Amino acid sequence: MIDIKHISKWYGSTQVLDDCSTQVASGEVVVVCGPSGSGKSTLIKTVNGLEPFQKGEIFVDGVSVGAAGTNLPKLRARIGMVFQSFELFPHLSVNQNLELAQVKVLGRSTEEARERAGSLLDRVGLRAHQDKFPGQLSGGQQQRVAIARALAMDPIAMLFDEPTSALDPEMVNEVLDVMVDLAREGMTMMVVTHEMGFARKVADRVVFMDAGKIVEDCSNEEFFGNMEARSERAQHFLSKIL
Ligand code: ATP
Ligand code: MG
Repeated sequence: MIDIKHISKWYGSTQVLDDCSTQVASGEVVVVCGPSGSGKSTLIKTVNGLEPFQKGEIFVDGVSVGAAGTNLPKLRARIGMVFQSFELFPHLSVNQNLELAQVKVLGRSTEEARERAGSLLDRVGLRAHQDKFPGQLSGGQQQRVAIARALAMDPIAMLFDEPTSALDPEMVNEVLDVMVDLAREGMTMMVVTHEMGFARKVADRVVFMDAGKIVEDCSNEEFFGNMEARSERAQHFLSKIL
């Protein structure tokens, strides 16, 4: 589904991604972790064309992200993305947040969009809050709305960039629970997170990045079951967060 092939990226003369390659198969969950500044956000944002890159190629569902002729807005509409900051439209109600792109981008009728919004709000446990504005919700609730909004577009894959790291600790699990359900339902997911409990529970593979490179890319069993075989850098990183 997602095929990242030998991606390199520079900001000016500073290289921030160095020959990164990995894949996310359909229905697979890949967790990306690594120290601050290692390139995790940059890598995940290359997948939907939010970050251009100078070398390599990425295919999403067979479509080349970097090719000149690719319709990036169309591609982005098919890939859900959830960021650390919730990024809801503050002046729109929860319902309106969920409906807007369905109507504007997918051309759904308002009734259809509302129905889809309602069923997704049920799913993330927020139907009762549908007429509130983002500022009236907790961080965990806002992030669940952001996930529901992305799902309303019927994405072929979901990208998450540290979706719980801006949340108060007591709200982390309500967001992770939604993500666990999504993973178990077979959504293709690439997730930047340091929540290793989540990774262990649902990741098919774990990618560890350091200084712009993918240092480890291994199965869940290999990553968590055979920690002593991991690189020194990965072990050092994990010893600080586990
Ligand atoms: P964090 O865990 O702090 O979110 P990260 O692994 O997501 O870190 P990135 O945000 O991808 O790291 O950044 C990778 C590198 O690229 C860092 O060295 C960062 O300083 C650099 N970088 C990111 N954005 C820019 C930019 N717009 N201009 C120049 N350098 C940048
Ligand atoms: Mg980041």
